[in-house]
Amino acid sequence: QVEEWRKLRDEPTVTVDGVHVELAANIGTPNDVAGVLDNGGEGVGLYRTEFLYMGRDKLPSEDVQYNAYKTVLEKMEGKPVVVRTLDIGGDKELPYLDLPKEMNPFLGFRAIRLCLDRQDIFRTQLRALLRASVHGNLKIMFPMIATLGEFREAKAVLLEEKEKLVKEGIEVADKIELGIMVEIPSTAVLADQFAKEVDFFSIGTNDLIQYTMAADRMNERVSYLYQPYNPSILRLIKMVIDASHREGKWTGMCGEMAGDTTAIPLLLGLGLDEFSMSATSILPARSQLTKLSQAEMKELAAKALDMQTAEQVVELVRSIGQ
Ligand code: PEP
Ligand code: MG
Repeated sequence: QVEEWRKLRDEPTVTVDGVHVELAANIGTPNDVAGVLDNGGEGVGLYRTEFLYMGRDKLPSEDVQYNAYKTVLEKMEGKPVVVRTLDIGGDKELPYLDLPKEMNPFLGFRAIRLCLDRQDIFRTQLRALLRASVHGNLKIMFPMIATLGEFREAKAVLLEEKEKLVKEGIEVADKIELGIMVEIPSTAVLADQFAKEVDFFSIGTNDLIQYTMAADRMNERVSYLYQPYNPSILRLIKMVIDASHREGKWTGMCGEMAGDTTAIPLLLGLGLDEFSMSATSILPARSQLTKLSQAEMKELAAKALDMQTAEQVVELVRSIGQ
């Protein structure tokens, strides 16, 4: 099997009925890029920039960040790289920010909420990203967007920094796609409105499932509620993908679900454009996808959307030998 996967390393991911999907990788540091290329990744679908900020005693400077982003972009040689702006808070803390303890950190001051408040931090990161943009195919994505207002505000800050750099005579890429993570049910439900303003969506199922089921993703005692195959989750995913396509935009997924062999047939059927996963899952996923027909998986997904429970959906996918 490993032999068969190896042969797929430089192949595109095309289904038996000729549909191309993109298989990308999630990374945390520039060192992860070698593994992405080695496993045939067609891009980076999620660069979690938190690690640049963690394990140190002060904020990383603009230059430290610029070097990291530039390295990733250069090593990816023009393949798409989706960089997510700082997603701190929740289970990821930065002691040097000295933020007050919260009752519900996952529902609190995190990610874009923190960045819009601490614009000094946000602007430094955006400047570093904009400067790095000339070294490859950069796409920028904001985490934990709950309202259109947040997206518009974040975008406005980005455009301001871009303008400043241009005035300083610093080169910035002309067109940088700008997207959001869909991790909060409000955003999935309102995806048709978001789709008019963003360039792409990336569904973060790790959080989307936690918030939809109201079950802490870290809490063992409620882990039975962590149900990727629950029809409610599949319906939200469908809403997001359909909304993006109606506006000529694309949707990826960078939560764990994207690399899950039980979920993959359903996601293909729902029309997902890009699957971003840990590098080691890419070749098995490619092998699986190239044996599937999207037309057939559309029928499978339609059945799943009409089911009552996650267990029934799993049974359905198993019944086709997946
Ligand atoms: C997600 O929520 O699915 C996601 C990819 O983000 P993280 O796991 O970093 O919260
Ligand atoms: Mg998340």
